[in-house]
Amino acid sequence: MGIRTGKAFLAALRDDRDVWVDGERVKDVTSDPRFAGAAQTVAELYDMQHDPALTERMTFAAPNGERAGLSFIMPGSVGDLERRRGMVKIWADATCGMFGRSPDYMNIMLMGFAAAHQAFGTKDKRFPANVVKYYEHCRDHDVAMTHTLINPQVDRSKPVHQQDKDLAAQIVKETDAGLVIRGARMVSTLCAFADDLMVMPSTFLQNSPEAEPYAFGFSIPISTKGLRFICRPMVMHREAASPMDHPLSSRFDECDAMVIFDDVAVPWERVFIHRDPAMCNGLYDRTGTMPQVMHQFATKNLAKAEFMMGLAFSISKATNTDQHLHVQGMLAELIQFTEFSRACLRASEVDAAPNAAGVITPAAMPLWTVRMMFAPMFRRMCEIVQILGAGGLVAVPSYAETASAVWPDVEKYFQAANADSKSRIKLFRLAFDAAMSSFSGRQQLYERYYSGDPVRLAASLYNLYDKDTYRDRIAATLDDLEARQNPAGAAPAFKPKPR
Ligand SMILES: Cc1cc2nc3c(=O)[nH]c(=O)nc-3n(C[C@H](O)[C@H](O)[C@H](O)COP(=O)(O)OP(=O)(O)OC[C@H]3O[C@@H](n4cnc5c(N)ncnc54)[C@H](O)[C@@H]3O)c2cc1C
Repeated sequence: MGIRTGKAFLAALRDDRDVWVDGERVKDVTSDPRFAGAAQTVAELYDMQHDPALTERMTFAAPNGERAGLSFIMPGSVGDLERRRGMVKIWADATCGMFGRSPDYMNIMLMGFAAAHQAFGTKDKRFPANVVKYYEHCRDHDVAMTHTLINPQVDRSKPVHQQDKDLAAQIVKETDAGLVIRGARMVSTLCAFADDLMVMPSTFLQNSPEAEPYAFGFSIPISTKGLRFICRPMVMHREAASPMDHPLSSRFDECDAMVIFDDVAVPWERVFIHRDPAMCNGLYDRTGTMPQVMHQFATKNLAKAEFMMGLAFSISKATNTDQHLHVQGMLAELIQFTEFSRACLRASEVDAAPNAAGVITPAAMPLWTVRMMFAPMFRRMCEIVQILGAGGLVAVPSYAETASAVWPDVEKYFQAANADSKSRIKLFRLAFDAAMSSFSGRQQLYERYYSGDPVRLAASLYNLYDKDTYRDRIAATLDDLEARQNPAGAAPAFKPKPR
């Protein structure tokens, strides 16, 4: 089958999936006005793969002889990583870095699991082959996946198996055909626009028999019987006369939902982890999957930083505020955020190394650094756009006014030093949507949490990091100083360890 067209992608979404919003079941996510904009966005991303000007940069020859999306490639060289980054950047630029869960995110995660498939065979020898077959199926059919990792927020003071209320998704039965899952998981972004749902572990599980029902990994079609998605209200403003008033919200609201498993049957062929807390804990770092995924989202973050920087340059140019020193200081901050993201991404490629299976894996630490620092950087980007736009962000009319009876007033009074009225309205509505709207609020929450709780991530980073090299250096320095104080002993020469 190979790379899909947008049309084929949209047709596959009309599968009677059980998606709920605003108190009603959504009949068709491709035509419902709350969902259609984002569905169309993903369709356009798929169509880009067929654009003759982009095909070579976005696809590769899969083993079956068809073209496949480059995000599925198992990198065999740093050049492959760079090509993959190029592909991810094309999609991220097309969505202003605001569509966090474009399909490449999960494609790369699944590739990471497949590259380390042997790791899945500790308890059941079928699972490594299941992972590889599923990866090949998704690569060869250009499947769009979403995922859900986290148990619902019921009582975060207790491990999941000690919760009073039996709400978290768990295995309630095994049959000859597979598993039966009951309960809920939060959150699944993109569920309305994906073909399959990967249900994988995330939070730490106790290595005990009581935790085993919660220790699983599998993937199933979104339209599987008993699988239900209850979405938050969409941020799209249906009452708006023009999408120009909500240029990002109207196209890039990828939706978030709670997932309900109403005795969902999972066939054994799609099971990757079964009643195995030890396998679940630390899965992403142990398999080398995390650096691959971080490489994807660091690229998305670079696109997002470039977009916010471009926006700020444009606003300040329109009203000549970039003449002021402190404004230039804030614009320079945006340059630093962008170039910091780019430098970390490139460093991860330069220091990439093969994993145990020979798959080239980006260096983790530069990517961890972007992962931890990007959320506060993005909040500051929004703040800078607010500071630079100031009252101008609200003293801007609907785009419909450019064709209404008050157009002569609008044309005259809404212009700026370097922008005619229409250009200024378009620009400032874009800035409002990016930095102030509920779409922006959701983006800020996304950046804070999408790859985990920053508090626990910081602890993970600390635990992962090579600390001994630096403690040894301090100890050697102290030994050296002490030896210098001792007139009887010769000072040992300080020999720094090369890094
Ligand atoms: C916009 C958005 C989209 C998302 N999309 C997806 C998705 O597609 N798929 C997916 O699987 N997940 C998704 N997530 C979920 C994301 O993985 C979680 O939000 C994240 O892991 C944090 O977990 P939580 O929200 O349950 O917060 P909680 O764990 O409930 O934490 C809430 C607060 O309590 C503190 N806290 C709670 N427990 C502890 C503890 N044990 N130790 C220390 N501090 C603690 C935290 O530090 C935090 O400040 C998304 C989240 C957002 C916001």
